[in-house]
Amino acid sequence: MKILTEGSFDGKKVLLRCELNVPLKDGVITDDTRIVESLPTIKYLLEHNAAVIIMAHLGRPEGTGYEEAFSLAPVAEHLKSLLGREVTLAGDCFGDKTAAQAEALRSGEILMLENVRFVKGETKGSEEFAEKLASYGNVYVNDAFGTTHRAHSSTAIIAKFFPNDKYAGKLLEHEIVNLEKLLKTPARPFTAIIGGSKVSSKIDVLKNMAEKVDNLIVGGGMAYTFIKALGGTVGNSIHEDDKIDIAREVMEVCKEKNVVFALPEDTVVADAFDNEANRKTVPTMEIPDGWEGLDIGAASIEKFKNIVRNSKTILWNGPLGVFEMDNFATGTLEIGKTVGEISQQGAFSAVGGGDSIAAVKKLGIASQISYISTGGGAMIEYLEGKTLPGIAAL
Ligand code: AMP
Repeated sequence: MKILTEGSFDGKKVLLRCELNVPLKDGVITDDTRIVESLPTIKYLLEHNAAVIIMAHLGRPEGTGYEEAFSLAPVAEHLKSLLGREVTLAGDCFGDKTAAQAEALRSGEILMLENVRFVKGETKGSEEFAEKLASYGNVYVNDAFGTTHRAHSSTAIIAKFFPNDKYAGKLLEHEIVNLEKLLKTPARPFTAIIGGSKVSSKIDVLKNMAEKVDNLIVGGGMAYTFIKALGGTVGNSIHEDDKIDIAREVMEVCKEKNVVFALPEDTVVADAFDNEANRKTVPTMEIPDGWEGLDIGAASIEKFKNIVRNSKTILWNGPLGVFEMDNFATGTLEIGKTVGEISQQGAFSAVGGGDSIAAVKKLGIASQISYISTGGGAMIEYLEGKTLPGIAAL
């Protein structure tokens, strides 16, 4: 895979796939992180005298044409203000007028195509649509790590039309370098903290991580499936009976590989899924009927902190409790703080998944984390050891 510094972009028309799927409320961008993170590649190309044609998606439109709610107009406006340069938004991503705009684009200028998902072919990986997009430029750069796990027209299929002129952008390069560091050359001890609601969404991550880490900490709702597998009672806690075998398998792998497998010893339970519900702390193996586990308890926090403090590499994906409710956020925030602390002391920390990133931001420790992944699903698939179509295509 070639990276930007290996290419020459002088006078070229670069088709750049960005990840610009930002959250909007009433047409206003509520978090511009993804736009800001796309700037280094856009600036690099402009500085190297390219004309830049940006392709991106926003939300989940029907795929049957223009829908105002999913127009990239607010994104183009915001990019313009961040760059201090004109950003022309095309009316679509396939019409004659757009082709003429792309044709007329000069070095140093930016044209943003409208939401590629206005075209049904995009998410189906249509070759015809990919060829249409490819006709606008003579170089392809993919910087949209967050969609590399999809074999869509603009994220993967298009690459075949640029056999010698396809590159990973800076953001994509950064993601791969860091993920490879985690998977191939982690400083040890290496600890993975996997939380979130369900085992089912992270089965392969748990399995793959069990093969690679020294310590595997499991928290959040998914812990209760493991507790059931161990013969504990989980009350009303979220759990998946059909994943008990998987939980057993993960624990078996840990045993075989001498991986320290850590579950919460105590749990903060509530008598309803409500911030104001009655709550108490009980042993995780003995959650009474009528109660549900919503956070890890104080003893578990201490136990997990000790493991984290003795680690040189930490991967954290998924909250350790229902951190959206203040009364059940302590575990997630305390462990987050410790991950921040030991990163300051030189450990390598990687955080991924929207919820863990939200926790890190809430704590104000984002700058302490060594690497925050921009791709939720894409990061998970990478950690599962899968081949991502967008990366394979490059
Ligand atoms: P995920 O998207 O799988 O990483 O899951 C994140 C979600 O898991 C968050 O919305 C949390 O509120 C939820 N979660 C974490 N711990 C629990 C728990 N003990 N019970 C129910 N939901 C939980």
